[in-house]
Amino acid sequence: MTDLPADRRPALVDALLPGLLEPVATQRADAGRTVKTAWRLVDGALVESVLMRYPDRVTMCVSSQAGCGMGCPFCATGHGGLTRNLSTAEIVEQVLAGARALRRGQVAGGPGRVSNVVFMGMGEPLANYRAVRDALHRLVDDPPHGLGLSARAVTVSTVGLVPRILDLAAEGLPVTLAVSLHAPDDELRNTLVPINTRWPVIEVLDAASQYADRSGRRFSVEYVLIRGVNDQAWRADALADLLVGRLAHVNLIPLNPTPGSAWTASRRADQVEFVRRLAGRGVPVTVRDTRGREIDGACGQLAAAGRAPQA
Ligand code: SAH
Ligand code: SF4
Repeated sequence: MTDLPADRRPALVDALLPGLLEPVATQRADAGRTVKTAWRLVDGALVESVLMRYPDRVTMCVSSQAGCGMGCPFCATGHGGLTRNLSTAEIVEQVLAGARALRRGQVAGGPGRVSNVVFMGMGEPLANYRAVRDALHRLVDDPPHGLGLSARAVTVSTVGLVPRILDLAAEGLPVTLAVSLHAPDDELRNTLVPINTRWPVIEVLDAASQYADRSGRRFSVEYVLIRGVNDQAWRADALADLLVGRLAHVNLIPLNPTPGSAWTASRRADQVEFVRRLAGRGVPVTVRDTRGREIDGACGQLAAAGRAPQA
């Protein structure tokens, strides 16, 4: 509205148009280098994002849905069910909010820029395919249409919706794909990741391999280590059998226990043995750091989503 004085316009916009995201709570950890924000959307739905600053990069962990309908029993988000999908704007705005805070020097370590984005907050990104696909374009397309992030620095984490993995491969966006496996055998995975009854382990891995062939980038296998549930040495061997010869990298995640659950993280010795068996077969493996351990309370997974897999 150029007929109004320029200095009056912002106030008018604020009064007439609701913000996409209203911050309702902020928690800091790691001497201010991890910042978790809970946001209220226009209709009252709540989501979270986390900014994690490392010496060489800044990762934004974003939500793609309010809640999640996938029902994984170890996940805090899964317990509440799905509220709704986020729009493309609501997804991108989480990244922009982090970018603004960095630019203004509001994050410990001085002014900076967002370099990495991981879809490891609330929700199953491939269950909100169109909004996520459009958000990915906004993140990686060159300015002025997009933010110009490197596609390899953007990671989409999925429980394994096979048709959507193949759609994403056809999209030709070489973002990094992470599949949340958590078990090498269908019997256990059916209980940890219920959608496995629809797309079993081998179909998920074959789709991820196709994605890797198409994008030229190795995929990540996310594996939350749960004491006495999926951390046995024989399961490490079975996982290695599945992954040898694939363009894949294993990210082991110590379980971040959710309130009221009997499950807990693996013993140190079991974790070490799990790593040793995978590495011994030549499968690249890392144990994810758990940024913001002390602020994981509300979500149970955002803090554990931590570090993006390294390119
Ligand atoms: N829905 C997608 C992305 C969001 S979850 C997915 O499941 O992949 C991001 C990652 O956090 C997934 O690998 C998920 O398994 C993991 N996660 C969920 N709950 C967790 C918990 N309590 N402790 C550690 N990791 C958890
Ligand atoms: Fe949803 Fe991922 Fe949580 Fe499973 S682990 S309930 S897919 S957010």
